[in-house]
Amino acid sequence: AETWDIVPQAPPDSIFKLTAAYQADPYPQKVNLGVGAYRDDDNKPWVLPVVRKASHILLSDPTLHHEYLPITGLPEFVSGAARLILGDDSPALADDRVASVQTISGTGANHLAALFLSKYYQFDGERVVYLSDPTWVNHFAIFENVGIKQRTYPYYDSKTIGLDFDGFLAALQSAPGRSVFLVHACAHNPTGVDPTEEQWETIAQAFIAKKHYAIFDSAYQGFASGDLDRDAKAIRYFVRRGVPMLVCQSFAKNAGLYGERVGALHLIAPNKETATRVRSQLSVLQRSEISNPPSYGARVIALILGNPELFEEWKADIRTMADRIIDMRKRLHSLLTNELRTPGNWDHIVNQIGMFSFTGISTAQSKALIDDAHVYLTSNGRISMAGLNSKNLRYFAEALDRVVR
Ligand code: PLP
Repeated sequence: AETWDIVPQAPPDSIFKLTAAYQADPYPQKVNLGVGAYRDDDNKPWVLPVVRKASHILLSDPTLHHEYLPITGLPEFVSGAARLILGDDSPALADDRVASVQTISGTGANHLAALFLSKYYQFDGERVVYLSDPTWVNHFAIFENVGIKQRTYPYYDSKTIGLDFDGFLAALQSAPGRSVFLVHACAHNPTGVDPTEEQWETIAQAFIAKKHYAIFDSAYQGFASGDLDRDAKAIRYFVRRGVPMLVCQSFAKNAGLYGERVGALHLIAPNKETATRVRSQLSVLQRSEISNPPSYGARVIALILGNPELFEEWKADIRTMADRIIDMRKRLHSLLTNELRTPGNWDHIVNQIGMFSFTGISTAQSKALIDDAHVYLTSNGRISMAGLNSKNLRYFAEALDRVVR
């Protein structure tokens, strides 16, 4: 027998498989609604104008070098990122009790958080994390890799195509005290369904009552409402209420820096002394995992966050992306409801927020869209709104109309 005989063949990643099938399809009107990346109205990747500008400033600096960053990342980036997500007036920042580390985008933040919890969180019973049903599929593997089991809590209600608030709350109340719950800060992936502000308050109350620990995954700040502060409201509310928590932050979507891998992990500690100890151990873990994080994207973001003019430009660029997506939602809803009179209620298309929409169609109907109409989407009926544009919207609406009739 050979050494690697025991290695089983893994199935291909479903999203990457979908993209490959789309690329291989010669049909001229094909549509890709699978991938979670912003596209402009010509279906092209969009380099944010402010990112282009910041890159030019960086690259024209003759003193720029390629030395290693500190283990915990570029200091200006890390502090700016913390203020961006926690708010300028954050009580935790005022008390200097946030341990922040630059990470390999949001995935790296999730991983470092999971690794830190696996080493230092005092699980009362089982080592388990509660994930929303459904969630970003990578969450399962990330916790599995560090020996933390995964369990799901009710989140999406297929009957209302909305939030199963009662189910979520009941899960928080019935889990053992001090359990770890991962929640999406805004623009929940894959459903596009978020709790309301009032619901977040009730959820925070349940965390406090049971002393649960909150992992906030923030991959879409600015993408939900078009407003960076509004999309951070739940996080800031939890901090004010004193819920023990950490935040995983990604700049992939809101700055269009996907491949540059820009992110951060922020652990909100009860006091400065604890934050200092936590930071020292995050630094130890980071050293053995990646030594130090990549510099280019962090420099771009640090420049934008540190310059009021560039910061305003960035906010406008974010609104451009969010507004285009919101416009697609409205037009798709109107086409289905008013013009095609497609059977069923499609209000969720406009009620859901962020990059994704759960259409509520079945696996068979999703498959029919691919096979009959060359419209590529995941089998759970999730569509990326960013894949729709003024040229393919009608084609998609008519195809959807056909498969649900
Ligand atoms: N968390 C969620 C919920 C996501 O949807 C994503 C990306 O799709 C990420 C984290 C991490 O993305 P990245 O590592 O590119 O920042």
